[in-house]
Amino acid sequence: AITTKDLQHLFALIAGDIAAQRDHLCELDGAIGDGDHGLAMDAGCEAAAKAVGGLDPAQAAPTAVFNAAAKAFLNAVGASSGPLYATAFMRAGAAVKDKPELSDDDFVRAFAVMAQGIQERGKAEPGEKTMVDTWKPAADAALKVRASGSALAECFDMADRAARQGCEATRDLLAAKGRASRLGDRVIGHIDPGAASAAIIIASIAKFAR
Ligand code: ADP
Ligand code: MG
Ligand code: MG
Repeated sequence: AITTKDLQHLFALIAGDIAAQRDHLCELDGAIGDGDHGLAMDAGCEAAAKAVGGLDPAQAAPTAVFNAAAKAFLNAVGASSGPLYATAFMRAGAAVKDKPELSDDDFVRAFAVMAQGIQERGKAEPGEKTMVDTWKPAADAALKVRASGSALAECFDMADRAARQGCEATRDLLAAKGRASRLGDRVIGHIDPGAASAAIIIASIAKFAR
């Protein structure tokens, strides 16, 4: 089962992986946005990991972990990724309410509702060159592989693969949401920064699930 301690480890892993790609994410956002995406995600993930890491695993259930992450992320980030990830973490928290620890099914469900929360909060559909293009196919893949009875590692390896593909595919898309939507066809040829950071987070989760 996945415990609060495991989730603390996961949030630390994500924060480290995002921090390592901070400058790269800023460069991607510099091309089709305002250049702050690496800073925003680094600040948000760092704050979330710190808040989560400060919880006492003997006292805090998984729902409290996700709720602490949501609050910290929102407070640390002024950019549009702030409310999107805060919603994702809140939804995950609600999905695991009252669970002292998480089964593999619980964890996959929490992952899937994160994707759904981002989609509902931002009102973006797949194909609009946003982080939804990474999250949605990854969540669909995790749910599908889990329903076929596969182990968690397999679910998230497939989610990771779907995330990379979804992210890479944003290169050829026009942007329909966010800042990049004002740039018309100048965004063609550039990967969406939010899709790229989402792929990093999902790769971290796949590492954790192994
Ligand atoms: P800002 O544009 O406010 O500076 P960030 O740079 O942190 O915010 O994040 C930009 C990313 O946010 C985009 O690359 C895109 O993936 C994502 N994004 C923007 N608007 C939406 C939306 N409505 N729904 C989903 N994702 C969005
Ligand atoms: Mg930005
Ligand atoms: Mg900004």
